[in-house]
Amino acid sequence: MHPFSLVKADSTRAAVEAGRRGGRFIAGGTTLVDLMRETVERPGRLVDIDGLPLRGITTTPGGGLRIGALVRMAEAAADSRVRVMFPVVSQALELSASAQLRNMATIGGNIMQRTRCTYFRDVSADCNKRRPGSGCAARGGLNRTHAILGTSEHCVATHASDVAVAFAALEARVRLLGPDGERSVPFAGFLLPPGGTPDREQAIGRGELITAVEIPPLPRRLRSGYLKVRDRQSYEFALTSAAVALHLRGGVIRAAKVAAGGVGTVPWKLPAVERELLGERPSERLWARAAERAADGARPLAHNGFKVELLKRTVERQLRVVGGTR
Ligand SMILES: Cc1cc2nc3c(=O)[nH]c(=O)nc-3n(C[C@H](O)[C@H](O)[C@H](O)COP(=O)(O)OP(=O)(O)OC[C@H]3O[C@@H](n4cnc5c(N)ncnc54)[C@H](O)[C@@H]3O)c2cc1C
Ligand code: SF4
Repeated sequence: MHPFSLVKADSTRAAVEAGRRGGRFIAGGTTLVDLMRETVERPGRLVDIDGLPLRGITTTPGGGLRIGALVRMAEAAADSRVRVMFPVVSQALELSASAQLRNMATIGGNIMQRTRCTYFRDVSADCNKRRPGSGCAARGGLNRTHAILGTSEHCVATHASDVAVAFAALEARVRLLGPDGERSVPFAGFLLPPGGTPDREQAIGRGELITAVEIPPLPRRLRSGYLKVRDRQSYEFALTSAAVALHLRGGVIRAAKVAAGGVGTVPWKLPAVERELLGERPSERLWARAAERAADGARPLAHNGFKVELLKRTVERQLRVVGGTR
């Protein structure tokens, strides 16, 4: 552990100012402290934001939901509005980490978490994300858990968050407060695929603070759910996952929102699957046909080719669970 100073922010403005001067935000601390202990991260100055008034969950006009950045994962998962309006969000949270971690970890910290690539966390390994230009040990190493979508020659690590997959499916937005004021970024553009700069992971500026995640108004009676496939049934990251939300009227699918986790360098939206579903009636054949498109563009590595088929089956199963059959 390297020496660091810690200041407690007493307002969002003070936090942004401290961030602008180079301070690093710490919320629940469940992942940043680990990374500091392993010397993967070495911030010299921490800004404790945990006391800021960013802990509300509110409905927005038209039927959307705003979840404050400092809402605990457990609080969001248990909230009756989240459970009724967007079960896919509460299920993704309940299937994340452990009960103790969910009681401490925040929504903002969750979407900002860094990859679980073991080479990223091993400071003796080459890793472009940790040390730009040093290479990528995972490409020629053990890459069973790595990404098959959105990879580049510079990095093949997955994004580890579950709830981010639900947010990506629902086309949520991230609200930011920074030195130049407030802005709102589509979730799709917030987490960045590695390209040539894997060390840059989020579209967030120096000093910018996530204040909330906003789920837009979606049709009432939206059905949704999250399926996570992993090596063991609890306390494990996803090998594959599927977030599915469907709106049916008159027996026809009028809205389809689908994204996958565990397979992409960012939560992976599946527009080709969504297009297959729109305007169709639920059936076993439809689920199979749509899921066949889930791995479009996949580029497996030496050890993770199994994810291509597993992803299709994960999506098909969750379409069946959410959409049913007639
Ligand atoms: C053993 C273990 C298992 C886990 N399993 C899962 C899992 O299965 N699924 C899953 O999704 N997650 C999992 N996680 C990750 C866990 O969900 C995260 O550790 C947690 O959500 C991070 O939240 P935090 O508030 O503790 O963030 P912190 O550790 O405080 O911060 C994390 C990062 O976010 C930044 N940050 C925090 N808040 C803000 C903000 N408001 N604005 C801007 N930047 C901010 C910090 O600067 C830091 O870089 C696991 C973690 C552990 C340790
Ligand atoms: S996959 Fe990405 S995070 Fe993992 S070693 Fe390669 S560059 Fe680093």
